[in-house]
Amino acid sequence: MGYAEVSVNSPVAQRRTYSYAIPSGLSIDVGQAVWAPFGDKVLQGIVLELTDYPAVEETRDIAGIIDPRPLLSSAHVKLARWISERYLSPLFDTVALMLPPGFERKAVTVITSVPSPQRQDLATPAQRHALELVQKRGRISLKELEKALGKKKAQSLVSQLVGRGLVVRTYELQKVKVKPKKVPYLGLAVTVEEARQQATRLYGKKAIKQATLLDFLAQQSEPVPWTEARQRTGCNKATADALASMGLVQFHQVEVRREPISYQGITPSSPLTLTAAQKLAFESIRSCLVAKDGASPPVSLLHGVTGSGKTEIYLQTLAEAVKLGKRGIVLVPEIALTPQTIERFASRFPRRVAVLHSKLSLGEQFDEWQRIRDGEFDVVIGSRSAIFAPQPELGLIVIDEEHEWTYKQDTVPRYHARDVAIKLAELTGAVVILGSATPDVETFYHAQKGGYHLLQLPERVTPGETLPRIEVVDLREELKAGNRSLFSRSLSQAMAKAVANREQVILFLNRRGAATFVQCRSCGFVLRCRRCEVALTHHFAEDALICHQCNHRMAVPQICPRCLSHRLKFLGIGTQKLEQETSSTFPQARLLRWDRDVTRGRYSHEQILTKFRTHEADILIGTQMIAKGLDLPLVTLVGVVSADTAMNLPDFRAGERTFQLLSQVAGRAGRGILGGRVIIQTYSPEHYAIQAAAQHDYASFYAREIEYRRQLGNPPFTRLASLVYSHTNDVLCQREAERMKRQLVAEIESRGIDDLTLIGPAPAFIHRLRGRFRWQLILRGSEPSALVSQIPIPQGWTVDIDPVGLT
Ligand code: ADP
Ligand code: ZN
Ligand code: ZN
Repeated sequence: MGYAEVSVNSPVAQRRTYSYAIPSGLSIDVGQAVWAPFGDKVLQGIVLELTDYPAVEETRDIAGIIDPRPLLSSAHVKLARWISERYLSPLFDTVALMLPPGFERKAVTVITSVPSPQRQDLATPAQRHALELVQKRGRISLKELEKALGKKKAQSLVSQLVGRGLVVRTYELQKVKVKPKKVPYLGLAVTVEEARQQATRLYGKKAIKQATLLDFLAQQSEPVPWTEARQRTGCNKATADALASMGLVQFHQVEVRREPISYQGITPSSPLTLTAAQKLAFESIRSCLVAKDGASPPVSLLHGVTGSGKTEIYLQTLAEAVKLGKRGIVLVPEIALTPQTIERFASRFPRRVAVLHSKLSLGEQFDEWQRIRDGEFDVVIGSRSAIFAPQPELGLIVIDEEHEWTYKQDTVPRYHARDVAIKLAELTGAVVILGSATPDVETFYHAQKGGYHLLQLPERVTPGETLPRIEVVDLREELKAGNRSLFSRSLSQAMAKAVANREQVILFLNRRGAATFVQCRSCGFVLRCRRCEVALTHHFAEDALICHQCNHRMAVPQICPRCLSHRLKFLGIGTQKLEQETSSTFPQARLLRWDRDVTRGRYSHEQILTKFRTHEADILIGTQMIAKGLDLPLVTLVGVVSADTAMNLPDFRAGERTFQLLSQVAGRAGRGILGGRVIIQTYSPEHYAIQAAAQHDYASFYAREIEYRRQLGNPPFTRLASLVYSHTNDVLCQREAERMKRQLVAEIESRGIDDLTLIGPAPAFIHRLRGRFRWQLILRGSEPSALVSQIPIPQGWTVDIDPVGLT
């Protein structure tokens, strides 16, 4: 008899598997979805391993197979285990990442009658009654029997009947509630002949619209989509309704498959002739693709400014992989923001591209998953979770804008798609391309160390399309000159000129952390923590400055410690305020605001983008979202209203974040023939991140940044684990955080670990979230998760291994 180690869909299971016996007659494979008895329930499980001996003495039998085909490949099974270990996540949660959408459902117990039962006569009257109910229908769900007989009674009778071999009990997946997409079609309700005659009659009666529509339908061989009929004839709904009430036409609701990509207007494209720099990069990746030995690292960092031709390399290396009989996965930070990229893939691989996004209904996502598994697509494009697509013969994984924080999932399992991709590549023999204009400092460090191939594209492809000029404006000088508006003289002149020339302007504002740090408006000095170097955050309630890393606290000083000025300000401005001031300063310009508040409401990203692209607005005001890869040829001016908000977030990555944001925002200008100009406003023009961004100089930024990381012992020189506790009572919350700290310190000492430090507890960056207070502890060292994994973590704690950004 064989045994299976099964990951069971129960919160009790945590990071472990359970041993089950495989009953004879069931053929079970690794990756297969099965029904597993668990306590008094039957749960979904995925077989992760087949063994000759069980891990425990007493095992129960697998109750049945959910799907005849294994749902996970053996590489995915290994990947699920790896994610669970690395990010300390429950195993079934990581397995679930790779299951078809909507798979997680409860079991439905089905009772089926046995064709020619024996010893039927020996049954009790109650059993016979239950048996009749089953036999009458052939099969019936346990639920229905419970309704008829009462819950307890039905369950015990069924068990008795099963024991006597009179009925069989099986488990099925609850049906998914798929709402198919339906669109109205319009067709004739009469014969073509009659429709023609009626049309002539209507023309005679001067009912021209009705006649036209009827005539149009008479020419069609079958019903047509109503939107098409309306467009082609210029008729409105009232006309169609009138014909319908005469019984001449009829609306039908027709179910349609929503195609993830509309190929309308997409023409096939062919590969471009590569530039010398592109060719070098391409050849290097190609040699990784054909290499069989696995000796060289499978990861390439493609570092190139916006417009340097990275996407063309993705396209051509993918084509190369396809030639070798392989397939690819392409990750983009946010699918809604990358329509242009998707179009380019769709035109190079017509009808061979799958796009995964959340706008598809569950049923459609499920269909897409099946089609991918069946090998229908050369390329799967999607955000973070697309890395788990069941793409067979995986040869190439591209992660575009690899530095983006959206690749880290902020709910359990808190994986980073880049790290998962590299692991998956290792398991499948695929090759990884990490592309970015501003690589993550940690990625670049690995490339420098030789862990990744470093491929660089230093220039934009199009001759004459140079990088925009960047001007840094010192806001302290503006104040000295008596200018108190949000716009420096330089920025307001440039805006006026651009609008007058019918060009477009983007105003960029980083709103997160607004109004929290304290800065001297005379000398630009920002109050920072002495130990952590991060900006101190102002808490209104206590009127104190708090370090969100180590909880160092101080009163708000009356004067600037550096220049003794009294002009200390709590800084921060919102997009709404900026919008008001823009419209009062430039009343003639048409404004468009793009931030989460707006896109959560009436308009989608695409709508706002389309409005701006078609020049329905002159000035676009937005947050970090507009920094993403958009090609907007009419934009000649980008104004960064305040570079300081990103720089003064209480996070050791604030400098990196600032550099990335400024570089990307700057990349928005000068994509067209008009050229471009960028103006950055700041109180700290000398800051290395601003200086480097202004010079388009990644190398000098990196050199400074990596040095700071080394000095302060931050990643990539260490790894972090953040532990956040949340509670409705702030005092209890802090107390539990301190208790945990004592426990961790004791563990560190008793185990003799000498390279782990504990930072905090401190209030989390978002100290209060949905009525709960949050306190945070950070463990920093070479392998913090090794310790955390050994310690019981009580309810209320969230553990994040390798956290990014602020929580
Ligand atoms: P990135 O992805 O680095 O921003 P792209 O691949 O989008 O760069 O290239 C920028 C522009 O240059 C695009 O319009 C692209 O079509 C064009 N381009 C890229 N490579 C070439 C090439 N070898 N020859 C001509 N044009 C190119
Ligand atoms: Zn000062
Ligand atoms: Zn501190």
